Amino acid sequence: SVLLDAVRVTKFYDTRKALDHVSLAIHAKEVVVILGPSGCGKSTFLRCLNGLETVQAGSIYFHGSDLALPGTDWRPVRQRIGMVFQSYELFPHLSVRDNLLLGPVHVQKRPRAEALRQAGSLLERVGLADRLDSFPRQLSGGQKQRIAIVRALCMNPEVMLFDEVTAALDPEMVREVLDVILGLARNGMTMVIVTHEMGFARAVADRIVFMDEGRICEINTPGKFFTAP
Ligand code: ADP
Ligand code: ADP
Repeated sequence: SVLLDAVRVTKFYDTRKALDHVSLAIHAKEVVVILGPSGCGKSTFLRCLNGLETVQAGSIYFHGSDLALPGTDWRPVRQRIGMVFQSYELFPHLSVRDNLLLGPVHVQKRPRAEALRQAGSLLERVGLADRLDSFPRQLSGGQKQRIAIVRALCMNPEVMLFDEVTAALDPEMVREVLDVILGLARNGMTMVIVTHEMGFARAVADRIVFMDEGRICEINTPGKFFTAP
C-alpha cells in the first residue's frame, strides 16, 4: 500500500525551478534511496515530503491529506513523519533525556514515564543507554546523530526521512550511524534516504531514485542501478 505519494511536485525558489514534476509513491515498509549530484533537488524533495516546503504545483498525499496544500494545519499528520538532518539539531542546553522527551511529552502530550521507558529502550538499541544525562557537547558526532535518530523515533513515526545524515561525520563514525539505519530497515521501517554512501545505498535500498536538475531520471532496483549498462 502507498504510504506517501508525491504527485507532479513542482517547486521554485524565486524564479529558479528546484523540482520539476517530481512523482514518487512510497510504499509501506519500503526503503527508497535518492541519489544525484549536488544541487539536483534531493534535499528540497525530502523537505516537501515532510510538508516543510511550500510547493507551487502538485500534491503530497499522506493519509488522504495533501501536505502541499497551503493554509491548512497538517502538524498532527506531519508528526508521523520523522526527519533527521546532516546537522544533528539537538538542543544544546538540554540533556539527552530532555531532548528525547520534548516531542513525546510536550508536543504529543504522552505520559512522561511511558515516553522515558520508550526512549530508554531505543537508546539501548543504538548502544547509548548510559547517555541519558549527557549533554550534546559531551557526545561525539556519531553519538549525536544516533541520538537525533532516536529522538525522531520517539515520536513513533510511520516514515523516516534521512537527509545526508553522515555527511558531516568523521569517517570512523559513519558506520555506527548507517548500522542503526540498516537495523531500522530490517525492522520494516518505511524510509526515504538521501546519501552519498554508495555501498550503504546498495545494501539498504529497495529502490534507487536518481535525480538530476530537479527531475527524477531513473528509478530502479539497486542490483540493476549499480550494474553498468
Ligand atoms: P541537493 O539536496 O540535491 O543538493 P537542494 O534541494 O539542496 O539540492 O537544492 C536544489 C536547488 O535549489 C539548488 O540549486 C539550490 O541552490 C536551490 N536551493 C535550495 N534551497 C534553497 C533556498 N532555501 N533558497 C534558494 N534556493 C535554494
Ligand atoms: P540485531 O538485533 O541483530 O543487532 P537489529 O536489526 O535489531 O539487529 O539492529 C541493528 C542495529 O540497528 C543495532 O545497532 C540496533 O541497535 C539498531 N536498531 C534496530 N532496530 C532499531 C529501532 N527500532 N530503533 C532504533 N535502533 C534500532
